[in-house]
Amino acid sequence: MTTAVRSSSVELRDIHVSFGTLEVLRGVDLRVASGKTTCVIGPSGSGKSTLLRCVNRLQEPDSGDLLLDGESVIRSDPDALRQRVGMVFQHFNLFGHRSVLDNIVLPLRSVKKLGKEEAVEIARAHLAEVGLADKAPYRPSALSGGQQQRVAIARALAMDPEVMLFDEATSALDPELVKGVLNLMAGLAERGLTLIVVTHEMGFARSVADEVAFMDAGRIVEQGQPARIFDEPQSPRLQRFLSQVL
Ligand code: ADP
Ligand code: MG
Repeated sequence: MTTAVRSSSVELRDIHVSFGTLEVLRGVDLRVASGKTTCVIGPSGSGKSTLLRCVNRLQEPDSGDLLLDGESVIRSDPDALRQRVGMVFQHFNLFGHRSVLDNIVLPLRSVKKLGKEEAVEIARAHLAEVGLADKAPYRPSALSGGQQQRVAIARALAMDPEVMLFDEATSALDPELVKGVLNLMAGLAERGLTLIVVTHEMGFARSVADEVAFMDAGRIVEQGQPARIFDEPQSPRLQRFLSQVL
């Protein structure tokens, strides 16, 4: 991983999201400085995925503001925003009927409007970076879950994002495949990409995150450096959560 990255700060201000009468995000403020990593932890249903989806506006907030690099992007073109903010999902979301190489080439052509040769060159470079150069011609189903997730990461990185979002990227993987993906994510953090990582991997959060945010019932209840969050949790809710997961 040697490519220089251009990363941006991200800021969410007083974000509210409801589904019908269910208020899922109840005024969330989050700031991640450029090049830093924030891990978001918390119980199932607390709003972590919804929060992440607000950052690239897959979910449009009912109110609140979203700033990238200090500028509001809450009313900008969402497709332009999604080129700047890449996302990796639990279930990879690869095109099953296309080759691994095409999975990376097609968005480069359709979204970035690159010519075929340039798109293929960039795609091959990113596949090589995640250690999968030899898998280019295969369908995703011929790869392990860990390899498929690395393809999904390569696809997101090929768009040259300023921010990357990971939503439980290792939760669907067999235990022996988790480490390879976490190592890749740690490499991105080290390279200075801005990352927001929803994860159940507390070891990763402790060792890689600059900050950890604990969510419960649609709010960030507590936030701070990993050692503070894990060793000196203040709120009873975080204490209870940690006693269940550690
Ligand atoms: P987490 O990722 O922390 O498990 P989510 O953000 O996925 O939490 O969900 C928070 C709450 O919002 C849950 O109660 C979930 O059922 C609800 N929810 C999420 N997405 C939708 C949706 N599109 N429509 C209705 N309810 C939703
Ligand atoms: Mg979720």
